Amino acid sequence: MMADDYDTREIWRPLVFRLHENAPAVVREVLLERGWTEFDKEEQDDADWNLYWRNSPFRMTDHHSIKPWQRLNHYPEAVRITRKDYLARHLKRMRGSYGSALYEFSPVAFIMPNDYIKFLSEYSKEGQSVGRRSSYWICKPVGLSRGRGILIFQDIKDLVYDCTVIVQKYISNPLLISGYKLDLRLYVCVTSFCPLTIYTYEEGLVRFATEKFDLGSLDNVYAHLTNTSINKYGASYEKYKEGIGCGSKWTFSKFRSYLQIFGVDDMLLWQKINNIVILTLLAVTPLPVASNCFELFGFDILIDEKFKPWLLEVNYNPALRLDCSTDDTVKRKLLHDIVELLNYRQIDAFRQNQVARTKAGRRRVPWSAAGESATREAPGLLTCQKVAKCISASSVQPALQAARGSTGKVATLSKKTAKAYPRKTLTSQMRERMNMPKPPSPEKAEAKNKQLQGAGYSPHKSDQLNHWLPTPDFCKCKLTTRPYFLSDKDQRPIPRVGDFVLIFPFNEAAFQASKDGTDVKSIIKEINKLVSKQLPSKEQNTKKRVGCLTSV
Ligand code: ADP
Repeated sequence: MMADDYDTREIWRPLVFRLHENAPAVVREVLLERGWTEFDKEEQDDADWNLYWRNSPFRMTDHHSIKPWQRLNHYPEAVRITRKDYLARHLKRMRGSYGSALYEFSPVAFIMPNDYIKFLSEYSKEGQSVGRRSSYWICKPVGLSRGRGILIFQDIKDLVYDCTVIVQKYISNPLLISGYKLDLRLYVCVTSFCPLTIYTYEEGLVRFATEKFDLGSLDNVYAHLTNTSINKYGASYEKYKEGIGCGSKWTFSKFRSYLQIFGVDDMLLWQKINNIVILTLLAVTPLPVASNCFELFGFDILIDEKFKPWLLEVNYNPALRLDCSTDDTVKRKLLHDIVELLNYRQIDAFRQNQVARTKAGRRRVPWSAAGESATREAPGLLTCQKVAKCISASSVQPALQAARGSTGKVATLSKKTAKAYPRKTLTSQMRERMNMPKPPSPEKAEAKNKQLQGAGYSPHKSDQLNHWLPTPDFCKCKLTTRPYFLSDKDQRPIPRVGDFVLIFPFNEAAFQASKDGTDVKSIIKEINKLVSKQLPSKEQNTKKRVGCLTSV
């Protein structure tokens, strides 16, 4: 890059967010808190923003016209796993290909009306087995969410539906705390599907039903469903519930501390859940490759009394409403950590100049070496192989080990509430800088660039960037932007960002297997190895202790 291509006397503007209607209010609040400003359609150029957040998918043209300084909060076709019937189909296919031992974490499901005969046969088979209690089933409309239209039944004559539904085996032996059913809302951020890069969030929400679990009253939604959108209308929601407290939510931190008190191996549980996340996301690969986007999923995990985690569903746009103080603590920090994960650099604040240049027909190549064309105006979508070639092949920190290490810090997690923000981050430092009265001189700006830890980009030192880019193959693939989620240090996904922990790739073999497209077979082989190492002795330990917890 030419040094004079980047002039720090040019206007340094705050990062800009763009919200589509109905985007959650807390997104705006957090970004404003971090010193960002909101996009103004009347005043600003169409490309003059850094983050576009919407509740529905973007058009493909939005993905194609993505600029290096921009991020979109949806990945193309992520809905492939967030509709209940699609998910059921994908998992069934994976079970067929890779065995039910690995893919037995989601309750058996039938898509109605298509699978009616199959369901009938399963239902009758069970009815005929002597001495076996007949199962409970849950019927859920595929196009609805928040517990709407759900029916739990034991007798097939109670099954009624007037739209496409899935009928799923009802987990009738859930883990109970003080008699209340619970499930986990786990946040998962995929920064890329190709190469697959997955982070799980260590903090999260435990969602309780607000009336005691009772298989004798299947139509009591307050006893069987854990959705807040339902329970907040229940008579017991505000009341103090013994063992649970008021409301219907705990943080993961509180839940883990609770498990630890009873000697339950919460780390093993966490590993099993991470395995579920990886196996589920593998089921939807390949997705189209897209630059500069991410997907925040909400995984709903139910734990049974034997401490087996079950995947209930994967949510697109997990709720970011702040219904209670627990929501506030978890979701606010989650959003701060997402912004950190998006890895904005100083250069991204100079987009105004780049927009102007683009308009004036001057192409800007901010992070390639001089004369390289890695950031030319080009489609944001690539093939897997092309992207894979962009990434070097040194070692990856084993993510599950990282996760294991970090779960040890559970006790301190709860202390890290949203009040800890704004904290010293690149963005906050930038904000402070932006609040300075005068624009900096070029010399001062350069000095400041040197100081900023993690900024990773110094406009006057293009040699810092050479290790990043461009192999000849990389340039050929006309990548508009470099993958923002790689560290400048080793071009690997950053192992941990805030409470986000990288869970995939989890070792070198998994990394290699996800480079040239996603080699699902090899990845599954690695997961199998991992699982066989993780489980045996610890599982026995957990089993010994389950009795005391469920009797609480
Ligand atoms: P929705 O999208 O409507 O929230 P979910 O699949 O998340 O649908 O189900 C809503 C709630 O119903 C869950 O949070 C959980 O409490 C309960 N539930 C769903 N499926 C099952 C199941 N198979 N076994 C036990 N409980 C379930």
